[in-house]
Amino acid sequence: MKEDFLHYIWQHQYFDKTALATTDGEPLQVLRVGFYNTDAGPDFKEAILRLGEVEWSGSVEVHLKASDWHRHQHQHDLKYDQVVLHVVWQADQPVLRTDGSTVPVVELQGRVDLGMIHTYEQLQQSKNEIPCAPFWPSVPEVNKALMLERALVERLEEKGEEVLQAYRSYGNDWEQATYHTLLRGFGFKINQPAFEQLAKSLPFHVVRRHQHNLPQLEALLLGQAGFLADAEDAYAQQLQREYTFLQHKYKLQPMPRHQWNFLRMRPANFPTVRLAQLAGLLHQHQSLFTKLQEAGAVKKYEQLFQAPVSDYWLKHYMFGRESKGISRGLGKSSAQNLVINVAVPILAAYASHNSDRTLLDKAINLLEQVREASNKYTRQYEALGWQANSAADNQAALGLYKRYCHPVNCMRCAIGNQIMKKNKAAL
Ligand code: SF4
Repeated sequence: MKEDFLHYIWQHQYFDKTALATTDGEPLQVLRVGFYNTDAGPDFKEAILRLGEVEWSGSVEVHLKASDWHRHQHQHDLKYDQVVLHVVWQADQPVLRTDGSTVPVVELQGRVDLGMIHTYEQLQQSKNEIPCAPFWPSVPEVNKALMLERALVERLEEKGEEVLQAYRSYGNDWEQATYHTLLRGFGFKINQPAFEQLAKSLPFHVVRRHQHNLPQLEALLLGQAGFLADAEDAYAQQLQREYTFLQHKYKLQPMPRHQWNFLRMRPANFPTVRLAQLAGLLHQHQSLFTKLQEAGAVKKYEQLFQAPVSDYWLKHYMFGRESKGISRGLGKSSAQNLVINVAVPILAAYASHNSDRTLLDKAINLLEQVREASNKYTRQYEALGWQANSAADNQAALGLYKRYCHPVNCMRCAIGNQIMKKNKAAL
C-alpha cells in the first residue's frame, strides 16, 4: 500500500466511522475533509474536525505509519504546526509539533473495506499497460468521457505552460513567445533541438526588422542555420551576401550545420525546406500571435501555416539540387501538426494567462476538427473498446496515459474512483 490510497480513503471518507476516535480516545467527527494540497506542506488544508467537544480547523497530514512524521522531519517544520489531525494506517508512535505539543492521530487500519484494498492492490500490481484494463468495461462511458476531457484540459494547460515560460522569459512578449513556439513546432520532433537552438541564436527583433523582405528573411534563417557556408549556386550566393552583411550588423554566430538532421527523411521534410517554409510564413504574417487569435476554423489555421515559399524553393529541396517533382510548400498533415503543436498551445497559454475558459474551448474545438490517425497511446485505449475520432481524442489519451495510467495514479483518476466504488462492499 502507498500513501495515495490513504489520501483517496480520507478524501472520500471511505472508512468505517463507528465510534471513531483518536489514539488518545478522544471522539472524532469530520466536518470537512479539507482540500487536497499538491504543493509543499500538509496533504489536506482547511479541514474542520470536532475532537471531543472542541471544533478545530487546520490541516490534515496522511502517512502509512505515524513514525513517518519524524522520518520526514515534520517535527522541525513550521508548516506542519497547523496540522490538527494525523491520519495513519498504523499508529506506531506519538508525534509532536515544533513546540512539543502532541498531534492527534487517527488509525484507519481495520476500518477500510477489504474489497477496496484488494482492488487497489490489483491496480497497483497489474502487468497491463493500462492497469485497469480488466475493469474498463464495467466503467460507465460517461465517467470515461469526463476523465478523458479532464486529461485533455490538463494536457493543454501543461502545453500552455511551456508557452507561458517562453512568454515570461521574453519579457512578457506574446509575439516573441509565438516565434519561439513556432520554431520549435517547425522542428517536427527530429529537428526540434536544432530549431530551438536557431530560435535562441537568431533574436526575434532581428527577424522582425527584416520580415517584410523575403530574401533577407531566408538569408537570416538559412545563414544562421549554417546552410550558406558553402553557397552552391547563384541563389545561395545571393543569400550568402545578404547574410554576411546581416551577420556583421547583428553580430550573429551561425550554428554548426551538423546540428541538422537529414537522415531517413523525405526531401520534402528536409530542414532546408522547412526553413524556406518558415521564412514564407514569417514574411506573410508579421503579427502571427494576433493572427492565431483571429483565425477561426481549422482550415483557416492550416492556410495560415501553408504560406507560399519563394520561387527557388518550389523547385529545390537543398541548395544546388533541383528536384524532379515540384514542391508545394507545407503539406496538409504538417500544417495540422502545427495546429496541434503551435496554435493550440499558444491559445491555451493565452487562455490560462487571462483565465479565459472560452479561449481554452476554442483550442479544444480546433483539436476536435483535426482528423488524425490513432497513435500508440490511443491504440491502447482503443483495444479496450474506446474510439478516438480526432486530435483532441489523441491528446486526451496521451494526457491520460502519461499523467495517470503509466505512473498508476489511479486514485486520482475518475475512472479509478469508479472502479474502487464498484468494488466496495457496503460499509
Ligand atoms: S489511471 Fe485511470 S484509466 Fe489509467 S489505469 Fe488507472 S484507473 Fe485506469
